[in-house]
Amino acid sequence: MSKNIFALAEALKKREISSFELTAACIEEIEANDEGIGAYLTVCKEVALEEAKRSDFRRAEGNALGLLDGIPFSLKDNFCVEGIATTCGSRILEGYIPPYTATAVKKLFDAGAVLIGKTNMDEFGMGSFTENSAYKVTKNPINTEYSAGGSSGGSAASVASGTAVFSVGSDTGGSVRQPASFCGIVGLKPTYGRISRYGLTAFASSLDTVGVMAGSATECGLLLSCMSGKDEKDATSISQASFSAKNEGLEGLRVAIPRELFELPMSDSVKAAMEKTVTAFESLGVSVDIISVPSLALSAECYYIISSCEASSNLARFDGVRYGRRATGCKNLDELYKKSRTEGFGTEVKRRIMLGTLALSAGYYDDYYGRAQAVRKRISSDLSSVFENYPVLLMPTALSEAPRLLEDRVLSKVYSDDICTLPASLCGIPAISLPCGTAKNGLPVGIQLVANRLREDLLISVASAIEEDINE
Ligand code: GLN
Repeated sequence: MSKNIFALAEALKKREISSFELTAACIEEIEANDEGIGAYLTVCKEVALEEAKRSDFRRAEGNALGLLDGIPFSLKDNFCVEGIATTCGSRILEGYIPPYTATAVKKLFDAGAVLIGKTNMDEFGMGSFTENSAYKVTKNPINTEYSAGGSSGGSAASVASGTAVFSVGSDTGGSVRQPASFCGIVGLKPTYGRISRYGLTAFASSLDTVGVMAGSATECGLLLSCMSGKDEKDATSISQASFSAKNEGLEGLRVAIPRELFELPMSDSVKAAMEKTVTAFESLGVSVDIISVPSLALSAECYYIISSCEASSNLARFDGVRYGRRATGCKNLDELYKKSRTEGFGTEVKRRIMLGTLALSAGYYDDYYGRAQAVRKRISSDLSSVFENYPVLLMPTALSEAPRLLEDRVLSKVYSDDICTLPASLCGIPAISLPCGTAKNGLPVGIQLVANRLREDLLISVASAIEEDINE
């Protein structure tokens, strides 16, 4: 059966299937096959089946809530849900049960969507392959010898394996878009502030966004309209946040490819995907130009300084006293902090905390944090000027298809390989990754469209116009 939200909503409406049957089928599939994939950290079997029954009951009474009523979804494990364990992929949060629910998730609950499980992730969102989780590694469902991407690798794998109809992840520097491209699904990172971050565990607060993953751009648009909007509990949520999809024609549209990303060493399959997308645009009468935005080349350095600085401050709250796991046998408070953090955090998280602490310390602050902020402003103003002529940018999502799991990696390359997703993160602008065929080894390849602040409407209508063509 198709796992498209609109098709399922129709089937639910016509009573061809019940939410209970749909949810039970997803859970059976998880129980049968997820051990070999590792998408989930928690499966909410009882609660999910209960909620599904409630949805069926509402429908039977003629009170169905809308298109999402009864649709099963998965959620990255850095979102708080009242009464359900939230680990952020970290030992330090082992045993933590949040007393409240994230706003974005509450909105989905209010629309009747059924949470089936919490998904695996790189610890606190730091990583690109879901290999930095303290609990397990997530494999790519298309070929389990390969990575599902990260940090929302569990979310992408859950949708790609058909155990969830859609998933909610977080995207700080590409963590929704890159795993979406590795797993052959659509991933949308909205404008910063469009969806409330309340209840999403902070990694880098000025970059964190709530993103969605599904089978098509239109489904992502539907999810965005459900979850977006000003939230009193998140001071950075924006007042024009509510989203509703409009279908804009492509007439007169101009698309640009930034040379700085196009000339990076890309795999043949990514090059082919870019070319295929250009051809698709041209056949719809949209011209594609190559332009130059030199500051984009600095995105990775800029992002890794700013995000590590913010992480070092945000993660100070995990001290063994307030949340989750506490070290035992400590003689005093200092030792309790030290031991809890030493035992609780993994290597990558410790590295980022140290990097951020160094970059923020007196004597280094201006050289690192100050300069990174200046570069961030520069990238933002350069892209604003580009949008005056070209409302949509076309970029790769990643420089290659998924790599093999757990292979030796050079850290500086892992960081710099994020370059294609980082500009949109640094500028707080929306971006969507679309599947665009497969590489020779059968793994999916993605391309990315980026638009100006609050232009998700444009992004989604352009994406819908080309997505079928480019994924043939
Ligand atoms: N690869 C990025 C990082 O490790 C992904 C961050 C994210 O979007 N959570 O920081």
